[in-house]
Amino acid sequence: MLANGSGLLASGPVSAAASAAGSSLETTLASAPPSPRSPSGAPSLLPQQMYWFARSKEFEKLEAHNLFDCIECGCCSYVCPSNIPLVQYYRASKAQITKQKQDNQRSEIAKARFEARQQRLEHEQAEKEARRKARSAKAKQAKAAGSDHSSAVIQAAIARSSAKKAAQDPAQAAIERAKAARSGGAAAASPADKVAKLESCGVTVTERVPLKVGENRHNAEYLATKAAKSGHLL
Ligand code: SF4
Repeated sequence: MLANGSGLLASGPVSAAASAAGSSLETTLASAPPSPRSPSGAPSLLPQQMYWFARSKEFEKLEAHNLFDCIECGCCSYVCPSNIPLVQYYRASKAQITKQKQDNQRSEIAKARFEARQQRLEHEQAEKEARRKARSAKAKQAKAAGSDHSSAVIQAAIARSSAKKAAQDPAQAAIERAKAARSGGAAAASPADKVAKLESCGVTVTERVPLKVGENRHNAEYLATKAAKSGHLL
């Protein structure tokens, strides 16, 4: 292990080779800036291990072995007895690690943008759907209100027309009574009740006309009962 004057420490091949390299190597190491991760002077760069990690592309281990503390001074390559271009391996690994980090960062940004866009689109879709439902409900409400109003107006017009006809035509009045009886609304009412109701609606009953249906032995008793109990003019 070799300790230089500025605090940079080298071990293993570097230290052994540095001794052999003599004073020129010591001068080079002395000029290197101190590693920020080795303030206590402990060995921080292991060229041989870094070489193997670089060859096997184990970038995490390379970083854990402080690859980025290497200043690429070239001393380890210079003294390597096998003439392995160590610095080139380190330099290439640094470039690959940097590119990998940039790619990961870009990927994270793209992912975040995609998720934000998806969220925005979903939000817009939900708002659109809510507006559509509100419009639909409002249209239905308006249609129902219009329908009720129209229906009421039509019914009122029919009632007025019928009342007018009944007032002018006794036969029409009988028809109206028959209609009312069929619909069940006045089925249980006596002729006197019906006259009272018509007059309460503003229809003046000026005359009651007997309805001659023809009497025979089969209906004589029935007609007599109706005339006696309900006041029918038969
Ligand atoms: S090239 Fe890097 S690992 Fe080799 S001696 Fe220089 S600083 Fe140390």
